Amino acid sequence: MYDYLRIFRHQSPVTALGPYKRAAIWVQGCDFACPGCIVPESWDKGGKQTISQTELADWILSQPDIEGITLSGGEPMLQAAALVNLIDRVYEFQNLGVMCYTGYRLEHLQQHGTDAQRALLNRIDLLVDGTYIESLHGDLLWRGSSNQRLLMLTERYQQILIQELAQGDRSTGIEFGIDVTGAFYFTGIPARKGFRDEFAAKMQSQGIIFSN
Ligand code: SF4
Repeated sequence: MYDYLRIFRHQSPVTALGPYKRAAIWVQGCDFACPGCIVPESWDKGGKQTISQTELADWILSQPDIEGITLSGGEPMLQAAALVNLIDRVYEFQNLGVMCYTGYRLEHLQQHGTDAQRALLNRIDLLVDGTYIESLHGDLLWRGSSNQRLLMLTERYQQILIQELAQGDRSTGIEFGIDVTGAFYFTGIPARKGFRDEFAAKMQSQGIIFSN
C-alpha cells in the first residue's frame, strides 16, 4: 500500500533547500492552499507522477556527493507512511540527513498526528514548520515567511545552522533548471514576494514554458 509515492518533482543536487548538497523530493498533494504558494501545481492530490519507493531510493542513493535529502511539497505529512518506508530503505545503505517542510506546526503533529506522521518526525533532522503566510514574507534562510520555524529535531545540523545564521537569516538564493518536458522552473525560496508570478510572466511573454 505504501510502496508508491505521488510526487511533483525530484531533483539533485539542490543547494537552495537546506544545508550542503541535497536530493530534493517534492511530494504531490496539499490541502493548505496558502495564498502566494510558489508551487500551487503541487496541491492536486491526483496530479503528476507516481513513483515506486525502490526507484526513488535507488535514485537518491545514486546521487554523488549529497549529504541529505529534503522533503518538500506539496505536503509531505500526507504521505508520511510512504516517506518513512523510503527513508528506512535509504538508511539501509547510507546515513543521509533528512530535512522536511510541512504546513503543520510541530506541536500539532506531536499531539494530534497519526502514527505515521510521528514516525516521520522521528526520522527528520531539520524541520521547517507552518504554512506560508504572504503578509509575513521575508528574505529568510530556507523559508518563506517569518512564522515558519527552523527546528532542529536532532543535533545533526546544529553547527551548520549556527554558521549560516551567523551570516544572517537570509535566503541562500534560488537555482534555475529545465525539466524533462523542456519547461523552465526554479528551486529555492525567493527573497522577494511575488517573484514566482513575475518570473512566470516573463517566461511566458517570451514563449517559454514555465512549470514550478
Ligand atoms: S503548505 Fe506549502 S505547498 Fe502547501 S499551499 Fe502552503 S506553501 Fe504551498
